[in-house]
Amino acid sequence: MQHATLPDGTRVPVLGQGTWHMGERGADRRAEAEALRLGLDLGLTLIDTAEMYADGGAEEVVREAIAGRRGEVFLVSKVYPQNASRARMARSCEASLRRMGVESIDLYLLHWRGGVPLAETVEAFGRLVEAGKIRRWGVSNLDVDDLEELGAALPDCQTDQVLYNLEARGPEHDLLPFCADHRMPVMAYSPVGQGGRMLRNPALRAVAARHGTGAAAIALAFTLRRPGIIAIPKAGNPAHLRENAAARDLVLTEQDLAELDQAFPPPRRKLPLAML
Ligand code: NDP
Repeated sequence: MQHATLPDGTRVPVLGQGTWHMGERGADRRAEAEALRLGLDLGLTLIDTAEMYADGGAEEVVREAIAGRRGEVFLVSKVYPQNASRARMARSCEASLRRMGVESIDLYLLHWRGGVPLAETVEAFGRLVEAGKIRRWGVSNLDVDDLEELGAALPDCQTDQVLYNLEARGPEHDLLPFCADHRMPVMAYSPVGQGGRMLRNPALRAVAARHGTGAAAIALAFTLRRPGIIAIPKAGNPAHLRENAAARDLVLTEQDLAELDQAFPPPRRKLPLAML
């Protein structure tokens, strides 16, 4: 499965690229843009960014990366909760468009829930859709009760981007089934556990050795094993990008999944949605 279908019928790749921590150091920007371009060459054409990342710096890296290639890219950005109001969202969106050098954002997300009522945020998204500034909207870090609160607007919400990886399997209990019922793909952020401890887990490494690949590729294949999941690993290292791209073709066996369940147990009850 290489694509997921959004509620509005748009097909997007199940493996994209994150950009958190890009744009933080001027000296690294050229290499970061180069990495994103290699990702595009490898078919990782969904790029996730946010006005928050490096205070807009990540969106500037995206601009450099997609220059001349806008048509290939499905561009996702996010608005801060405090800017997700009737009065402020348009300005935030304009600033993101300017930094990325594009005329519209393919998918604009509420980064997390703040003080602005969800209904007001939905109204502000609607105005931006009408103005052609964004093509569609979604949310991030919202749990099932928050999604239910969207009410009549829920069918227009194209995704919920949440923390989902081997170490953070809470969404399997209720959020993933809820979204599947509503035919809404979930975007899994930090799918390789930010490159940290998770990737050193002996069981994960054993599965990876059997497949002749790295731990991160297995972690990605795990998140992608269900339909309707889009994973957005961030990788600046070309070797990481190649390994991640190859994860799309990995098929985990029953034995792999049983060993992973043993090392990273699935949730047995509702857990509050974790976020970074
Ligand atoms: P990831 O799980 O994507 O991990 C990124 C880290 O893992 C980087 O240090 C990277 O190193 C390393 N890495 C990537 N691929 C490999 C590999 N094959 N082998 C070993 N190490 C690897 O964490 P993120 O937190 O960055 O999450 C991904 C994206 O999700 C973010 O960049 C952002 O776009 C989004 N996000 C959204 C949030 C939200 O609240 N909505 C919160 C957090 C993230 P290197 O760069 O050196 O290749």
